[in-house]
Amino acid sequence: MHLKKLTVNGFKSFAHKATLEFSSGITAIVGPNGSGKSNIADAIRWVMGEQSIKTLRGKKSEDIIFSGSDKKARLGLAEVSLELDNADKKIPLDYSEITITRRLYRNGDSDYLINNHKSKLADLNLLLTQANFGHHTYAIVGQGMIDNFLLATPEERKNFFEEATGVKQYQIKKNQTISKLEQVGQNLATAKIRIQEMEPQLQLLTRQVKKLNKRKETEVELNEVRLNYYGSSWQEINKNYQDELKKTEFIETDKKLAEEKWKNLEKELNQIVKNDGLNQTIEKLRGEQQAAAEQKMRLKEKLFLLKNSSSSPGGGPFINFQPLSEDQMNQLNAQLSVLEHLQESALFALDQKNNVETIKTIINNLGQKIEKIIAFLKPYLKPKKETAPKIEQTNPETQSLEQKIAQTDELSDCLQIEIKNLLKEDEVKRSKLWDTQQKYQLAQQELRSLDNQLSEARIILARTETKKFDLKQESVRELGSLDLLENNNLPALSTEEKNALQNKINKLKGQLEIIGGLDPGIDVEYKNTQKKYDFLTAQISDLNQTLESLKKTINDLDQIIKSQMTHSLESINAYFQKYFGLLFNGGKAVLSLLKKEVPEEDDPSQSSNYPAINFFQEKSKNDYDRLEIYATPPGKKLKSINVLSGGERALTSIALICAIISSNPAPFIVLDEVDAALDESNSVRFAQILNDLSHKTQFIVITHNRATMEKAKLLYGVAMSDDGVSKLLSIRLGDSSTFINTR
Ligand code: ATP
Repeated sequence: MHLKKLTVNGFKSFAHKATLEFSSGITAIVGPNGSGKSNIADAIRWVMGEQSIKTLRGKKSEDIIFSGSDKKARLGLAEVSLELDNADKKIPLDYSEITITRRLYRNGDSDYLINNHKSKLADLNLLLTQANFGHHTYAIVGQGMIDNFLLATPEERKNFFEEATGVKQYQIKKNQTISKLEQVGQNLATAKIRIQEMEPQLQLLTRQVKKLNKRKETEVELNEVRLNYYGSSWQEINKNYQDELKKTEFIETDKKLAEEKWKNLEKELNQIVKNDGLNQTIEKLRGEQQAAAEQKMRLKEKLFLLKNSSSSPGGGPFINFQPLSEDQMNQLNAQLSVLEHLQESALFALDQKNNVETIKTIINNLGQKIEKIIAFLKPYLKPKKETAPKIEQTNPETQSLEQKIAQTDELSDCLQIEIKNLLKEDEVKRSKLWDTQQKYQLAQQELRSLDNQLSEARIILARTETKKFDLKQESVRELGSLDLLENNNLPALSTEEKNALQNKINKLKGQLEIIGGLDPGIDVEYKNTQKKYDFLTAQISDLNQTLESLKKTINDLDQIIKSQMTHSLESINAYFQKYFGLLFNGGKAVLSLLKKEVPEEDDPSQSSNYPAINFFQEKSKNDYDRLEIYATPPGKKLKSINVLSGGERALTSIALICAIISSNPAPFIVLDEVDAALDESNSVRFAQILNDLSHKTQFIVITHNRATMEKAKLLYGVAMSDDGVSKLLSIRLGDSSTFINTR
């Protein structure tokens, strides 16, 4: 990589566009004092991103824009472009030529362009560092800055040294990584604090959610058990109710039938009783028979009297009738009344359907009374003493009487037969009545029994209904609805099983009471908190991984830096000694890296909460942070480089710069009058050294030194015009000695 072209326009004294093309080797820029030579070095420094106005020899940024002169007005824009050959791809972009442009407007606006694309300063810096170009260091050594390195503090020198040894790019990466590490460390610490704060809440929520889940499980189990219990009970009670209902209906039906039967029997009885005119008929016939008997008695009495009157006075043919006294007649009448009374009793007993024994007793009484009457009358009925047979003389009246008696007998017999038949009929009827009465009583008993059964069944049904109602109320209270109970196919339960379920229900209810009421929103809160916690845990894990990865990167970079610095230090020291010896004709020069001195209070064992800080504290123990220079010209015994003369300082600096260039050549080097303080012989030696080094790097050298000019392949002359504008002239040495005006 090398410089191809520099174009300045409006930059400091270069009011007009001027272009410098460079070749390999040494390009010398010459010209009188104040012509604008150093402005070219400034332009290169500026376009490469220099931020220090002081380094650019100004006070404010607009000082780099052409400020005008007596004859030329000031400009509003300064623009510098630097064209780099990148065929070797030292700048890691896919271009063989790269043009860097920087613009500054008087209003303060500025742009960086890489191949005409706007870019950031940081990108530009990184690219140049990767190409081993450090604009802060030895690559552009401004006028009077040659001994800056020697006069700098050991800490400043270390920075310079990092650029010089090419580890700056790794240092930049390392610093970027450290920034990331610090950020990650802070994020990690914040995440840890947040997760620590969250832990007690999460633990509380976890416990509550466990309780909530236990509650839900218990509720589910309770519902199942309740469903089992109430479902089966509901089935059972419904079945019971249906059974009892059917039973009641059966009894009702039976009762209706029994009632009907009973009513029919009642009707039948009524009918039998109602149609019972037989007694009256018998009574009537008996009355008629009695009347016939009385009639016969009277007829016989009449016949007797008739016969006795016609044969002998005072007696009939068969018995002697002794007339009865009044007392005797009264007794007879009394006994006949008893007889009548007994007859009535017998009839009444028959009417009342009394039992046979009663009737028999009455009939016996009747017989005894009749015998009594006969016994009473017997003494008065003495048979008549037979006299000589007497021829009966028929008497018409007697005949009529006898005829009437015969008729009366006949009537009496007929009546007797009729009564006998009627009594038989009556007997049949009474038997039927008896039978019907028995049936009636049985039907009545059955009806009563069914009535009792029905009342009992209705009571049981009402009890079952009440139980059903109670169970329904309880089920609704326990299950919230009856829907689940209907149409279930749960098997019936034994009493033991029901008791077991009831115990289980009580136990689960007890457990729920112990768990207590919980806000169901806890679940959502727990999930959200757990989500945050998981997120933070994952974040901490990621951050730890990132942290470890960044630490590894830093360690790797440290290794590279350390190895490269050690290697470069050895190499630079060798060249430093070489060039120092060349320029001083002897002497000793050496660079030394010194370790950081760690104060007691910064003891890394006092660990911080920030893992990144601990890491740095641990690492910084091994950091080199100072670069010391020891330079002793021949024959001298110097304790410090501060006591070197101005020329000695310049020679030492040149020896060091040349050592760095030899060890780690930058793509190009700009040297602005670094040889100003050298005497003639040293100027020649310096020119020779440059010439030797120009095989390794490209030099743009601003010089008044003829020996240096002689080593240049290309020479630019700079002159100041009357209008205060720098003019550029170039001369290619060797072929022509003519100055060419580049404008
Ligand atoms: P020497 O050989 O003495 O070091 P030089 O050739 O290096 O001189 P420079 O320092 O490059 O000279 O240029 C200085 C000149 O540039 C001065 O004359 C100064 O007035 C002019 N100059 C600097 N800044 C501006 C500016 N912004 N506008 C116009 N001219 C400027």
